[in-house]
Amino acid sequence: MLYLWSTVTLLRRHHQVRFEVSGNMSHRADITIIGAGVIGLGIAAQVARQNREVYVLEKNETFGHEISSRHSGIIHSGIYYPEGSLKAKLCVAGNRTLYELCERFGIGHRRLGKLIVATRDEEAAELQTLLERGQRNGAEGLRMLSKREMKELEPNAEGVAAILSPSTGIIDSHALMKYFITKARDRGAQIAYQTKVIEIEKIADGYKVTVEDSTGRFSFTTRLLINCAGLYCDKVAELAGIDIIKAGYQLHFCKGEYFSVGGGKNRLVKRLIFPVPPPKVTGVGIHVTFDLEGRMRLGPSIQYVDSIDYAVDIQNKQLFYDSVKGFLPFIEYDDLEPEMAGIRPKLQGPGEDIRDFVIREESDKGLPGFVNLIGIESPGLTASPAIAEYVGSLVGELLGKRPHNAVTRPAT
Ligand SMILES: Cc1cc2nc3c(=O)[nH]c(=O)nc-3n(C[C@H](O)[C@H](O)[C@H](O)COP(=O)(O)OP(=O)(O)OC[C@H]3O[C@@H](n4cnc5c(N)ncnc54)[C@H](O)[C@@H]3O)c2cc1C
Repeated sequence: MLYLWSTVTLLRRHHQVRFEVSGNMSHRADITIIGAGVIGLGIAAQVARQNREVYVLEKNETFGHEISSRHSGIIHSGIYYPEGSLKAKLCVAGNRTLYELCERFGIGHRRLGKLIVATRDEEAAELQTLLERGQRNGAEGLRMLSKREMKELEPNAEGVAAILSPSTGIIDSHALMKYFITKARDRGAQIAYQTKVIEIEKIADGYKVTVEDSTGRFSFTTRLLINCAGLYCDKVAELAGIDIIKAGYQLHFCKGEYFSVGGGKNRLVKRLIFPVPPPKVTGVGIHVTFDLEGRMRLGPSIQYVDSIDYAVDIQNKQLFYDSVKGFLPFIEYDDLEPEMAGIRPKLQGPGEDIRDFVIREESDKGLPGFVNLIGIESPGLTASPAIAEYVGSLVGELLGKRPHNAVTRPAT
């Protein structure tokens, strides 16, 4: 062990770990993960081992400050995504694993169930298509409800029919990330905050990674490099030399705003209530969700934007009100207040067909051992433990290709 620590010292200060790398480049990590959102942290928890040197690098001062804290917090069941897609498979698998993790490790969650409500007869036909797709994807317990059955469950919602999805729920994503961090650290992974990856260079047997922190720049090498940089994952792929236009990796930012619902209206429905997704729109429609304290909100809207800006435009209040008044007639315009916004890292531009998650190792681009996770929008939170398992087996295969002692730290 000493031979590694002679070139690298990790200092812990107030939960921060900072690398201090000496001038020579002899230090070598086994696995470096870029980004401490729910995806990077889930992967760290999965791939960390006592005899592996695993680092997570995060440019912000702590974890989960970007997409992973600006979302609906819903554990999706897997209805919407094309059959056979990673989104469908990893969402359904992640749904089951998340509930198990929540129950076993006391992570805050509620299995509220959800209704997708059709307000017109034409939409009822669309419900049938959604139901069949969801069932083919393996979403648990989906059932079509008549108007009467819907009214029995949610007397204050309006519609002609609905799908009941009993396995949809909500989760405390911050607690989930804390669980992943604890697991990763217990297994020996190091998380370096305020450490931004600024250069990536392919070298003979891995990558030279240059980072910037408050003390300046330094470099180290890693055998495997995993890009979980969320809104910047295309930029990170570009740092490694990938032509992101040619590869189809360029992200489109798509803003989603939320409005909170006051006036005690949160007591009038028990479940998450969704509309039938609007045709040709890249999203599931403005819906009702709750946080774990029972506060109700509407969102997220869909607006492609050029830059990252989390302000909520009060002018959009009418759009929110109009979007839900058909199925939630008890909500009044004055109940709505701007709350927050998130940005989706979408691979598809406006009007384009839905794109799947990109999760792949880039050997065919001349970058063996470089794993990209691009376009991890919804249902990324739900899918996070399943994505971690998927990447974990990729990592197992990649490390298995080389002699064990070439990539792992000798046991002390
Ligand atoms: C409006 C909205 C609603 C959503 N609702 C749901 C939902 O209800 N259910 C669900 O399952 N999913 C939902 N999602 C999706 C889910 O939130 C995301 O898929 C997930 O949080 C993505 O996590 P991440 O780790 O990939 O990204 P992030 O959380 O953004 O983490 C990436 C990290 O990488 C860091 N980083 C970037 N560049 C660098 C660099 N060069 N060096 C070092 N660090 C870097 C960033 O600082 C960031 O912390 C929603 C998303 C949005 C936007």
